[in-house]
Amino acid sequence: MKVYVAEGSGFCFGVKRAMDMAFKYAVKNRGKKVYSLHEIIHNPQEVVRLEKAGARHVEKISSIEKGAAAIISTHGVTGLEQDRLKEKCGGVLDTTCPYVKKIHNIVKKLADENYQVIIAGDADHLEVKSILGYAGEGAVVVASAREASKLKLREKVGVVSQTTNNMAMYIEVLGEVQKKAFVSRYSEVRAFNTICDATKNRQAATLELAKKVDVLIIVGGKNSANTKRLYELGKTVLPWVYHVETASEIKKAWFAGKKAAGVSAGASTPEKGIIDAVKRIKMIGEN
Ligand code: SF4
Repeated sequence: MKVYVAEGSGFCFGVKRAMDMAFKYAVKNRGKKVYSLHEIIHNPQEVVRLEKAGARHVEKISSIEKGAAAIISTHGVTGLEQDRLKEKCGGVLDTTCPYVKKIHNIVKKLADENYQVIIAGDADHLEVKSILGYAGEGAVVVASAREASKLKLREKVGVVSQTTNNMAMYIEVLGEVQKKAFVSRYSEVRAFNTICDATKNRQAATLELAKKVDVLIIVGGKNSANTKRLYELGKTVLPWVYHVETASEIKKAWFAGKKAAGVSAGASTPEKGIIDAVKRIKMIGEN
């Protein structure tokens, strides 16, 4: 069986940066209490690896001991949470991806200038929650163009997207907002392309690969937004797409009668996860 890997698969710049920073911080603070507020990245195996290096993962600031060191995850936190951490902790390492930080700055400026902020994304996702924390009063999150069509808009509107969104979905949302806003001749819409290149490139490469293989395996955390997007995209052109967290979940039956397999991985999937998946598929192909 031929096995192809989607171009650019694996850790993106933001994830690599955060993991390097967090590991160095854990080592520097060895012997002290170190906490990672939320999963440093959305990959359970990497969260465990960081825990073994000394940084315990917690979901609430209240679970962090006073005076301990804290790590802010790639997805960022709200300004209020950042202040609470600084007040409570002996040290704070901020690994928020610079592309997420950029969105924080955009929405803060929009809110200061009295724009209503609309965020296209998943309201339950940490990144979106952190953005919302800077977006001011009246900010809303929409997950689809349908949701955008139901919005009650103010005269000045600013639109941003979660970094890991699908561009087609974001363009649909923008279209709806514009349609609604332009009913009033006084309205103003400002739109920002905040989908990051790592996301865009991985999506394009996965789509290409899905067109040339018989079965596609997407490797990455089940809670990783960008990995889920790759799975959904693959499914638009190929029925045999499977999302696994580790190679051990890959089943022999998926490859029966198939000649070419593809592997793609989210931005939070380490290289080892990709290599293991390729090895497992090759082994299945040989038996
Ligand atoms: S996917 Fe993009 S925004 Fe998210 S961590 Fe990677 S580089 Fe940053």
